Amino acid sequence: MPIASADRAIGVLEVTGNRDGVRLGADDEQVLVSFANQAALALERVRLAEDAARAAALAQSDELKSALLAAVSHELRTPLAAIKASVTSLIDPTVEWDDAAQSEFLQAINEETDRLTRMLSNLLDLSRIEGGALKPEKEWYDVAELVVDVAHRLASLAVRYRLTTEVEPDLPVVHFDYVQIAQVMMNLGENAVKYTLPGTEIVLSARRVHNSVELAVRDRGPGIPASRLPHIFNRFYRADGAGRVAGTGIGLAICKGFVEAHGGRIHAESREGSGTTIRFSLPIEHEVDRSS
Ligand code: ATP
Ligand code: MG
Repeated sequence: MPIASADRAIGVLEVTGNRDGVRLGADDEQVLVSFANQAALALERVRLAEDAARAAALAQSDELKSALLAAVSHELRTPLAAIKASVTSLIDPTVEWDDAAQSEFLQAINEETDRLTRMLSNLLDLSRIEGGALKPEKEWYDVAELVVDVAHRLASLAVRYRLTTEVEPDLPVVHFDYVQIAQVMMNLGENAVKYTLPGTEIVLSARRVHNSVELAVRDRGPGIPASRLPHIFNRFYRADGAGRVAGTGIGLAICKGFVEAHGGRIHAESREGSGTTIRFSLPIEHEVDRSS
């Protein structure tokens, strides 16, 4: 008995095991026809639902791609223009730059290429997080070393700030993806530098809280208004006043993606006028897990 949708056969209903060798009557056939029709309807419904889900996923990833492109194409232009301007000046045969001027151009090229690299790796990270292709590669690390390492890496951005670390002694080793968690700390540290005034304090800290190690970045900047606070971890979200500072609004979305992929949580505490602290937790897995 064919199972047919409106335009094609999608299956066959086979009936076996009539023990007495009696042939099926017209009534039986009628019942089988309605079975086949019901089966056809059910299969068709499943197929339509699958098609719809696939189309929605495609539309969503297309939407994400357009949103990413729209957000970054403008931001990518700024460092590129700065690099181009410096290089054009340096190779201009009609001008003889002194050493100081040359080194200033090279310095600018150096900083702007770093900025481009950071933006591109942020973008890649975000598309991996959103595409569900993110898997932390965890090893056992000393959190104190991570904090010191990030402080070193931030130092060149934060030369005009009082950057300090506060690490509780005797923290347990923790199982995490070093690259990802260092990236989280870097993104938080970069924000602290971007949104606060030079000369103020930025503190990177780590302490134990119950069964987690809590890492935090604290600043004494302008803070984030309470009404904006719930949105800052959304991609492309930038609070008022951020417009003057370069950025695409994806740094914190990446932090959230990385931390949650580790089974941790991230949240922000901030009061207007008295600074911002962003904390995140990394669960301490049991020592016996170390061998696995
Ligand atoms: P990107 O990190 O992609 O370069 P961004 O810094 O604007 O751009 P996020 O890091 O996601 O994006 O931050 C989102 C918004 O939260 C910022 O635009 C800013 O308004 C606010 N914000 C984040 N950190 C701080 C902070 N330490 N102090 C004040 N505002 C902050
Ligand atoms: Mg940022």
